[in-house]
Amino acid sequence: MNISITKATELKKKPTREEEGSLGFGKRFSDHMFMMNYDNGEWHDARIVPYQKLSFDPSCAVFHYAQEIFEGLKAYRADDDRILMFRARDNAERLNNSAVRLCMPTIDIEDNYEAMRQLVQVERDWVPHSAGTSLYLRPTMIATDEALGVHASKSYLYYIICSPSGAYYKAGLAPIRIRVEDRYVRAVRGGTGFAKTGGNYACSILAGAEAEKEGYSQVLWLDGEHMKYVQEVGAMNMMFLIDGKLVTAPLEDTILPGITRRSVMTLAREMGIEVEERPLSVEELIEAGDSGKLTEAFGTGTAAVVSPVGELAYRDKHIYLGDKSVNNGIGELTMKLYNTLTGLQWGRIPDTHGWVTDIDKK
Ligand SMILES: *Cc1c(COP(=O)(O)O)cnc(C)c1O
Repeated sequence: MNISITKATELKKKPTREEEGSLGFGKRFSDHMFMMNYDNGEWHDARIVPYQKLSFDPSCAVFHYAQEIFEGLKAYRADDDRILMFRARDNAERLNNSAVRLCMPTIDIEDNYEAMRQLVQVERDWVPHSAGTSLYLRPTMIATDEALGVHASKSYLYYIICSPSGAYYKAGLAPIRIRVEDRYVRAVRGGTGFAKTGGNYACSILAGAEAEKEGYSQVLWLDGEHMKYVQEVGAMNMMFLIDGKLVTAPLEDTILPGITRRSVMTLAREMGIEVEERPLSVEELIEAGDSGKLTEAFGTGTAAVVSPVGELAYRDKHIYLGDKSVNNGIGELTMKLYNTLTGLQWGRIPDTHGWVTDIDKK
């Protein structure tokens, strides 16, 4: 794939080192973006161009029938200024799995990796320097046919934008409060739960907003059939340390196959922890909390890496985890996994898995 590059004539002001401390997430965008179009059965016009607004006909398919998929990954600046990506080809592969489910065209994994790599090369000065900061990439594919009527679009746009992002935890890792959702569901068997598609989020926003009013930062979804088995939270897979074993929901078609999830499972096994992918009912979870067998719980996802849970609420039942006076209430395994994974991502720990790629090496 040949990627043409048109540089912006005027560059935006990049965040200063001081501003890097308050970047937050997804609010600022870099100078360039990648784009390519799909028509007549093929991708064409791969290009890196100045970051720009997009203009579409009001009848554009994505606005009406939500044929849309996306990805999320980061580029990290190592201490020696190498720019690294973490398992980027896995994101390219997952995008294709989402594409198949949403009846959208796939993209050659190496072509997609090249698009990300070359875009980050062009934007390398946008990869922030401060500890815990990164350049977040958001690959996105949308249906662009200009016609109403429910069927697969014939034309698509694929683009990648970059957003310099702050450290997720400004004051160090902090435990979150989550509420088990017992009214709304996110995914059902045979649905789109395993695909990274906007519709999964659209249907989750109301539950999140209601939980937030009560002081919870996330909802923990239950399965859509029995409202019994623990699934995942907003944009994170969930792990529970029960009786010394790390338990997580099996990857059926209602669970988003997180790359952080997969990485954490590998690292935990290498640390000698038994990992179980199995259905975990909310009753078992509450019982394990009451009996003290549940010792740690955390979410896994690209944005937060590992997010410790301090409180789990289900109806009027509350389970508190961690001792605030010890390491801010963060469990030993949670902390160890966080340190190992971030160590790999920022190139401080040698990569023995082939997960880390340098954007300057083909
Ligand atoms: C993206 C996402 C995750 C986490 O995936 P990672 O590859 O680890 O970032 C988990 N759950 C949902 C619903 C997601 O959209």
